[in-house]
Amino acid sequence: MNLPAPGQQKACPQIPAGSPVLDYNLTPLEPDLRYLILSDIHSNLEAFEKCRELAREKYDQALCLGDLVGYGPDPNAVIEGVRFVATIIIRGNHDKACAGLTDAEDFNPFARLATVWTREQLTPEHFAFLRALPSGPVQLEGFTIVHGSLIDEDEYIFGAGQALPALRNLTAQPVCFGHTHYQGGFALTPKGRFQSIRCTFKQNELTYVLPLEEGGRYLINPGSVGQPRDGNWRAAFAILDGEQRHIEYYRTPYDLPTTQKKMQRAGLPEPLIKRLAFGR
Ligand code: ZN
Repeated sequence: MNLPAPGQQKACPQIPAGSPVLDYNLTPLEPDLRYLILSDIHSNLEAFEKCRELAREKYDQALCLGDLVGYGPDPNAVIEGVRFVATIIIRGNHDKACAGLTDAEDFNPFARLATVWTREQLTPEHFAFLRALPSGPVQLEGFTIVHGSLIDEDEYIFGAGQALPALRNLTAQPVCFGHTHYQGGFALTPKGRFQSIRCTFKQNELTYVLPLEEGGRYLINPGSVGQPRDGNWRAAFAILDGEQRHIEYYRTPYDLPTTQKKMQRAGLPEPLIKRLAFGR
């Protein structure tokens, strides 16, 4: 692969303002539905397909919290797949960068290279689709979705410092967020105690069920489908059950060697290929 040096990147094609690109097939959301929550797929088709397979017949509607692309080898196939399964999709910082809405200046050099590579691969239709993705928060029936946080789509909620003020100010909740690639999240119990939500790590499939208690407040992170960073390489997702009032956290192994081989063939940076195996 011949990567242009930063500053020599191809100019991104301009989409005329107001282009009708989103064609959500919106059906009314019901509080008693089961929602499949996908986030940070990052062009990892094998991980995405495996999550779809495990989630099959376990949900009514699928939502995506952003970062469909960036890092991985299959941006077009993943966008196609997500558009097929998810009724609501919001954008992440990598979607913005790959669509030329931001310049990826704040990305590390490897992420930046992957961004340039992704821009070159995207079909004009998928480029336009990414470019038109709405930002969060999106308020749904009984919960909210964001990529980063409620106040800033690019903010990372890593710990109590960011989570506590957010939990105290929640007006609509639970809030489902992504961006950090850490499965779990944070809660304020009905008695006001702060908790980090930790999932069992070395297990496959349904790893943890979190009851949403009356009077509790919750920030829910389904984890990353395509590039987990919580020390577990397995693909992550969650299901929000509106009727049972609980969150189901899932992990699943996937065909990692195939993803890594594709990345090698594409000439994507070696550290991005290796990190998938460590979940870091
Ligand atoms: Zn991400």
